[in-house]
This record gives sequence, structure tokens and C-alpha cells, in this order.
Amino acid sequence: MTKPPSPPRPRWGAACVIGWPVAHSRSPLIHNYWITRYGLDAEYRREAVPPDQFKDFIAQLSDRGYVGANVTVPHKEAALAVAAPDERAKVVGAANTLWLEGGVLRATNTDVEGFIANLGAAAPAWDRGLRSAVVLGAGGAARAVVFGLLGRAVERVHVVNRTFERAKALADRFGGQVKPFRWSDLDRLLADAGLLVNTTSLGMSGQPELAIDLAPLPADAVVADLVYAPLKTALLADARRRGLRAVDGLGMLLHQAVGGFERWFNLRPQVTEDLRALVEADLIGT
Ligand code: NAP
Repeated sequence: MTKPPSPPRPRWGAACVIGWPVAHSRSPLIHNYWITRYGLDAEYRREAVPPDQFKDFIAQLSDRGYVGANVTVPHKEAALAVAAPDERAKVVGAANTLWLEGGVLRATNTDVEGFIANLGAAAPAWDRGLRSAVVLGAGGAARAVVFGLLGRAVERVHVVNRTFERAKALADRFGGQVKPFRWSDLDRLLADAGLLVNTTSLGMSGQPELAIDLAPLPADAVVADLVYAPLKTALLADARRRGLRAVDGLGMLLHQAVGGFERWFNLRPQVTEDLRALVEADLIGT
């Protein structure tokens, strides 16, 4: 028997970001900006939930009045087990967006499209003729980035990580186009790279700087940093000084939010200069 089409979801309700800690999250700023901008009768809140309470919290998501949620550190991997993940979330091994659909809690990973959409907006044609990309880091963010790059027909992705075994595990997950490397291989790999992406936490406020030499990169290479606090990292400053195209992490944060908002409130929001300025102002001093 064919299933009747689901009724359109209403343009109201509440959503939240679940993390531990969660005070630092800029998601409320982004989603509440869109809620006001589009005149929705909705709300987006922070929920500080420790790991041992995550499963119970999710089980009560609907009873708490939520139509869905973002999930941030340290729950992104655990989210796969408490919801029905799509193929992308399964391959990446982490979910950051949950939504209720016909009584089923679904999960996806919007970091993938956030990363790709931001590159497209900030460095148009970044993937034209792109043969080789270097990804620094092998954590959850790196897996989302690699998934996105493979979706754009990049020929080779070279994953460089402090802990080689994690780079190898990432490469094994994605197959032959992705190869693991050590930090000592970086100069050689950069010479052939059209894109360099930092997915490590190096350069974040409170963390050591990412100290690498960009000199070997070709003159038309794009350098992207996932770090957005601070917004102007030493890596991006160096890339700009060398005349390379530099893409910051804030754009990815804004673009990854679109998919959740659309699923919860049945409206696809726009990433605008106004929204970016609002979050940029909030990041000053980080
Ligand atoms: P994660 O799973 O903890 O991975 C952290 C990565 O950083 C690992 O590869 C780790 O290497 C590396 N690293 C940490 N300290 C290092 C050091 N001192 N030297 C060399 N490498 C080091 O974290 P994640 O979830 O992937 O997030 C990584 C970064 O991406 C964070 O800064 C996060 O804020 C950012 N991010 C941004 C967005 C956005 O929207 N812009 C979205 C997601 C994540 P080892 O494996 O050797 O430990």
C-alpha cells in the first residue's frame, strides 16, 4: 500500500543545541536571528546535557516541546545511536542535526554541506580542475570535510595528522582516493595541492598556533581554516599575505545551520552579510 504524503511541517516549534558544555555555542545567535528575520513563532535554546544523560534527554526531546536539535561536542558520535542516521552521517561517523519526522527521530551531518557551501561562496570555482587536497587533522570535522571533498570529484585527498594511526583509520573508512600521511610529509604534499584545509584545533583560542610553512603551495591554491574563534587565524593571515585565497571557519558554521532550520521550521533560511556581521561581532575578543 502506498503511504499517504506527510503533511507539511508547521513553521513553529522549538529547537535547541545540546552540548556539554554548551555556553560557547553560537547556534542560538544564528537560529534566533533567522526566527526573528522570518517572523516565526519559534524558539532556539541551549541545553547543557552531560554524556551520561544524553540518551534520556533525547528520548524526551518531543515531550520537551522540541521538533529537533543540533548536537555538538561531545555528543556528535553518540547521536548516531539515538536516532536514525542517514547514509552521510553513518559514513562520517557523526551527526550534528536531529529532527522528528512522522514520529521518527532522524539524524544527519550538515558540517559536510556547510563546508562545501562556504567554499563555494568564499572561493568560487575552488574545485575547478582540483586534483589534490591536503586535510590537516583526522577527527570528526576532518571526516565531514573528506566526505564533502569526495562528493566534489577531487581526485586525491591527503590526510595529515599528528597521530598517524587516526589518519590511517580515516583513510581506510573512505577508500583509495584518501591517503594517510605524517606531519613530516607536509612540504612535499603542499607542492601539489590546490586546497589546504585545517581541521585540527590548532589556532583556536587557548590552543597553540598552527605553525606550518605555506611557501610550497601553488600560487592559485585555496587555504581554508575550520577554526572561527578567533576568526583571523595565523594560518589565514599567512595565506592572505602570500596572495592565496583564504576561507575562514565562520562561513561553514553559518552554512551548516541552514539544513537544520529548514527541517525544523519548513523554511530554507539565507546566509546573509547581516547574519555574518552579527556573529562576527559576537566573536570579537575570542
Ligand atoms: P577532534 O575530533 O577532537 O579532532 C581534533 C584534531 O586536531 C585531531 O586531528 C588532533 O590530532 C588535532 N590536534 C589537536 N591538538 C593538536 C596538536 N597540538 N598538534 C597537532 N594536532 C592536534 O575535533 P573536531 O570535532 O574534528 O574539530 C576540530 C576543529 O574543527 C575544532 O577547532 C572545531 O572547532 C572545528 N570545527 C569547526 C566547524 C565550523 O563550522 N567551522 C565545524 C566543526 C568543527 P590527533 O588525532 O593527533 O589528536
